[in-house]
Amino acid sequence: MLRKSLIFGYCLPFLVTAGCISQTHADWLKQSQDLMGTRVNIELWSNKPDQASNCSDRVFTEMHRIDALMSPYKTDSEISAINRQAAQQAVPVSAELFRLIRKSIQFSDLSAGAFDITFASIGFQYNYRTHKKPDEKTINQQLKTINYKNLVLHNQTIKFAMPGMSIDLGGIAKGYAVDRAIDILQQCGITQALVSAGGDSRLLGDKQGRPWMIGIQHPRKKQAIALSIPLSHTAISTSGDYERFFISDKKRIHHIINPQTGKSATNSWSATVIGPDATSTDALSTSLFILGAKKGLELINTLDNMDAIIIDANGEIFYSSGLENPAEPG
Ligand code: ADP
Ligand code: MG
Repeated sequence: MLRKSLIFGYCLPFLVTAGCISQTHADWLKQSQDLMGTRVNIELWSNKPDQASNCSDRVFTEMHRIDALMSPYKTDSEISAINRQAAQQAVPVSAELFRLIRKSIQFSDLSAGAFDITFASIGFQYNYRTHKKPDEKTINQQLKTINYKNLVLHNQTIKFAMPGMSIDLGGIAKGYAVDRAIDILQQCGITQALVSAGGDSRLLGDKQGRPWMIGIQHPRKKQAIALSIPLSHTAISTSGDYERFFISDKKRIHHIINPQTGKSATNSWSATVIGPDATSTDALSTSLFILGAKKGLELINTLDNMDAIIIDANGEIFYSSGLENPAEPG
């Protein structure tokens, strides 16, 4: 993991490039699929092409399985069953989903409630494609249904302590899927790989003896990279207000909801977290985005092996104490 060094500049969006299934190099296998509402990319190094393609197939199968389990948009997912029934009764769930919901609650506690999967009761009323948002009255009436403390977890069942609640794992599930992907690649004997799902990436090993160069999207310039970082053997997640949004009354309405207001969080343009696993960096990047630079970095500086870069709502860049504060981009 990189510490105390950053490389800056406006360079080409490097490796997390969309593309169709292709084998671009004798020993690097690159594959992409649209999954979990985003683009999933896998790059792996292997000198056995059959083995490489078999491993990558297994990874995509696993990611489809996780999507089917956790998507709130699929009516037969476990999450949808919880959202339909948990206000009336304790809903039995798989051990896997129970664990991830429990983990989400740990991140809620850690972030003083910024990360909260019950944001969904109001979150589901936004539609960024059709520019739909709830009105003030609806938000005020329903804000009380956002509170992770009203999730009752018991003996592998989930219950809502009040009616009107919903949950959505959109702030952690992609990171979890990336971690599962890396586990499978490791079981396959792969030692160098990159897996990314939208803003969540994890690197296995390095790139032929050199670090991977990971670009952080410029939050206000399309196709531009704000900075790039050499990294190996680590996870990195970015949450930004530029992925899914629309402008209404000169305000940017985007997909990261402040649980205290029921509205899009306003403290940051983007928050990036670097750490050992993508489940944690995913949940923490969403949390830090909401908390903003001051509180967000205070939090990250208390955690071992976690670093962060926050671009605040004025475009100013802030770094956690584990990262060097480098010179301005050249
Ligand atoms: P992306 O989905 O673009 O990778 P993030 O990791 O930041 O971005 O997650 C944003 C998603 O997290 C939203 O689309 C939504 O599903 C979920 N979310 C939004 N607000 C919150 C919140 N306060 N706590 C937990 N999850 C949230
Ligand atoms: Mg996230």
